Amino acid sequence: MSTFVLATANAHKTQELREILQPLGVTLLPRPTDVPDVVEDGDTLEANALIKARALVAATGHAAIADDTGLFVDALEGAPGVHSARYAGEDATNEENVEKLLAALARIPSTHRAARFRTVAAVAYPDGSSVVVEGSLEGTIIDDVRGSGGFGYDPVFALADGRTLSELSSQEKNEISHRGRAFRALVEILQIP
Ligand code: IMP
Repeated sequence: MSTFVLATANAHKTQELREILQPLGVTLLPRPTDVPDVVEDGDTLEANALIKARALVAATGHAAIADDTGLFVDALEGAPGVHSARYAGEDATNEENVEKLLAALARIPSTHRAARFRTVAAVAYPDGSSVVVEGSLEGTIIDDVRGSGGFGYDPVFALADGRTLSELSSQEKNEISHRGRAFRALVEILQIP
């Protein structure tokens, strides 16, 4: 089974997932527009990924694929973590979330700004079974935005070579990213094709 309904409606993430999964032989069906949003009220990335995947199975009857990602900053005891999308408020923009993050870290020296992105990818099947895997990416949070690519916290997340994720091409990001790693691990476990 290598055809899945995609749980995300986010255009940028859909594009990233297509770039990662299509070369691996996975066909992704878009999320039907009439499926209502689910409340992502789990306490963990895993719980939220499964909530999203299972909601799509229930709505479509097809196997579904979902992911949940968070940015975990050591100096902030793992915040924003599972709340990364709404760190600065329920309808916060990426820019507002980044601004709040930089403010929270304003007194933290560059040597103590370690952080990681974690992505949990989940597949749920109509028979009720599911598969869950994780991918992560280590980096540090810089004190200003840099670069124009990517989305979310990419412009403040720097790799060991000093570049932010926003300064990578989408192909470079996919090769090393938390999401790329999680979905390649998922494909390996599902043994596709
Ligand atoms: P989601 O679970 O993939 O929707 O991610 C939750 C939040 O984490 C998003 O709203 C973004 O703020 C952030 N995020 C997720 N993936 C990335 C990424 O690849 N780069 C930067 N921020 C991300």
